[in-house]
Amino acid sequence: MGLFSRSKPKIKIQTTKKDSFSGWLKCTHCSELIHANELEQNANCCPKCDYHYRLSADERIKSLADAESFHEMFYELEASDPLQFVDTEAYPQRLVNAKEQSGHNEAVIVGTCTLAKMPIALGVLNFSFMGGSMGSVVGERLTLLMEYALKHNLPLVIVSTSGGARMQESIFSLMQMAKTSAALAKLHEAQVPYISILTNPTTGGVTASFASLGDIIMAEPNALICFAGPRVIEQTIGKKLPPGAQKSEFLLHHGMIDCIVKRRDIKAKVAEILGYLTGNQRHGDEHTPEQLPLQKKKTPNK
Ligand SMILES: [Zn+2]
Repeated sequence: MGLFSRSKPKIKIQTTKKDSFSGWLKCTHCSELIHANELEQNANCCPKCDYHYRLSADERIKSLADAESFHEMFYELEASDPLQFVDTEAYPQRLVNAKEQSGHNEAVIVGTCTLAKMPIALGVLNFSFMGGSMGSVVGERLTLLMEYALKHNLPLVIVSTSGGARMQESIFSLMQMAKTSAALAKLHEAQVPYISILTNPTTGGVTASFASLGDIIMAEPNALICFAGPRVIEQTIGKKLPPGAQKSEFLLHHGMIDCIVKRRDIKAKVAEILGYLTGNQRHGDEHTPEQLPLQKKKTPNK
C-alpha cells in the first residue's frame, strides 16, 4: 500500500450503535470525530468542544470517591408494586427489564466513602434505571442516607440525574419529595453540609425536592435542569422558550444555582467547599488524617 493512498478507508465512521463499532464517534454537539477511548479518558466529555456526555452511576462514583473507599448501603431495598400499575407493560416487568439493562436494582446508589480523604455520605442517581426516576425506594434510600449523615455528622453529596417522579408509583413517588425534603431540613438544622450536584438532565420531582435544597448547588455545564421540560412548557403556553432556557448557564444567571463546574474539576471543588464548610481548608493533597473535618463525633467506618 502506498504511503499516501489506501484502497479503502481504514477508519469506519460510526455514529450510531455498537454493531461493528470501530471506536470512532461523531460528537453530537460539535460534529468533530472523536475516539471512544479519548472520550473515556476525558470523563465522557468531548475532547474537542467539552460537551459533557452522560456518565454512568458507577463512573460517577469512581470520579468522586477515593479509590476503593465507596461502601454501598441499603442495597437490599427493592420496589414493590402497590398500585398494580400497568401501562404498556406491567410495572414489575419494567423493574425486571431495568435491572437487566442497568445492572443495578434501583435508580439510586447510596453509601459512604472518602472524598479527598474526607468522609462523606454519597448518593448518585442512576439514569440508566428507568430514567433515574424517583420511586419509593429511591426516596427511602436517600432518606436513610440523609439520616445516616445526620447521625454520624457526615457531609452529604448527592449527584442528580432524573426524569422526575416515577409515574408507575404515582402518589407514592410524590410523597418522596416531602420525605427527602423533611430529612434535609433536619440535616440543615444540625448544620451538616449538603452539596447538590445537578447533571444532565435533572427534572421534575427531583428538581422540585432534594436536588434544589443543597447548601451549595452546583451543576455541570450545559445541563438541562427544570421542573417541566421545554417541550411540555411550549405546548402549554404556546410560545417558544428563550434560547438556552433551563440550561445550567441560564439557571446560574437567574440565581437558581451557585456555580457551574466542569466534570473534571468537580471533585476538587467539592473538597474545597467542604473544607470551608467544615472549617478545614485543604491545601493541595497534604491532607493528613489529623486534619480530617468533622471531629465533633466519631466518624463511621462503614
Ligand atoms: Zn464535541
